Amino acid sequence: MSERSGAEVVAAVTAAFERTFGAAPDGVWSAPGRVNLIGEHTDYNGGLCLPIALPQRTFAAVSRRDDDLVRMVSAQQEGTSEVEIDDISPDRPGGWAAYVAGVLWALRRDGLEVGGLDVVVDSTVPFGAGLSSSAALECAVAAAVSDLHGLGLLDSAEGRARFAALCVEAENVIAGAPTGGMDQSASLLCDEAAALLLDCRSGDTEQVPFDLAGAGHALLVTDTRAEHALVDGQYAARRDACEQAARVLGVETLREIAPADLDGTLGRLDSEEQRQRVRHVVTEIERVTLTVGALRAGDLAEVGRLFDASHASLRDDYEVSCDELDVATATARAHGALGARMTGGGFGGSCIAIVPAGRVEEVAGAVAAAFEEHGYTPPVSFAVVASAPAHRDA
Ligand code: ADP
Ligand code: MG
Repeated sequence: MSERSGAEVVAAVTAAFERTFGAAPDGVWSAPGRVNLIGEHTDYNGGLCLPIALPQRTFAAVSRRDDDLVRMVSAQQEGTSEVEIDDISPDRPGGWAAYVAGVLWALRRDGLEVGGLDVVVDSTVPFGAGLSSSAALECAVAAAVSDLHGLGLLDSAEGRARFAALCVEAENVIAGAPTGGMDQSASLLCDEAAALLLDCRSGDTEQVPFDLAGAGHALLVTDTRAEHALVDGQYAARRDACEQAARVLGVETLREIAPADLDGTLGRLDSEEQRQRVRHVVTEIERVTLTVGALRAGDLAEVGRLFDASHASLRDDYEVSCDELDVATATARAHGALGARMTGGGFGGSCIAIVPAGRVEEVAGAVAAAFEEHGYTPPVSFAVVASAPAHRDA
């Protein structure tokens, strides 16, 4: 993970653009990665989730072109990728550039007037760590296109929500990752010092004050650096299982199942696996509501208990945790965290813990020591605060 400040990355990406394309960019835009406080694997079930924007961001230095060519370079990847907008497909340009080109494809398909671009990206969001470097990349590019083509989509919550939906389409269709809607909404709609309560059925959003520092605590993120690839079959398999269960139950999404009806509902499913998946989704959505209540009441101990319950549900019922995530969360708890849970899609990636401000170093050190003992790759831990959504930097 990069420790560079935003200003440093703006300078670096501007210089890289000049070196690559021989002129200054029209501007620099950035969008944050996100960490979901609670509400995991609920977005594609029409449920609730509660992400914050991270201080880590992806920056895009961009210039408009007069033709339809898109030229893309990343400080985190080799070489230059090129594609004409009308040639963009799940096969072209392929690789990381699909996340950039996909945005242009989705905007044009939606009837928005967009043209070619020269793009250089650089990022402080760790890749594949469950912190949504993919959405940060898409949303940084989307922000640039909106300003350069006068689309004005950053000017209102409605515009940002429309943009989020188009970035989801880009990721689903062109990058081939069947993700739900949370990541892009977080990157475009989260406010500083707030968590975003996102209702993935209605699309409604609400800012929930989130300031752990004011309460003497910190949110510690630990990137376990365990293997994690959303594009492999596991995420899609969970999503399919939920859709199948919803069909059996005769509901459009699992959101329709009230927590009070859970026991009766589970009795109508014929496999234990389906019962586990549904139980996770229904109880997890309820935990989001309870977390929002506890945050508003300033009851961090209760938030911590809900984090722990979420982790247990993801581990035991949804079966998307892994040894590294289980060790990291258990170690954090043993060293004074009020609660800890895996976050993001799972199978690796990151976990979060609410830690008393004075014990952040101790918890991070204990997790690192536990990983060493188990022979795991050294983890990377960092405290985060809720940060700003996609915007123009320069
Ligand atoms: P996550 O979103 O959790 O970080 P994903 O697998 O969804 O993990 O997305 C990671 C992928 O997004 C990378 O493999 C790469 O293709 C692309 N990506 C993200 N950030 C960048 C970047 N700064 N430069 C190039 N590609 C990036
Ligand atoms: Mg992603």
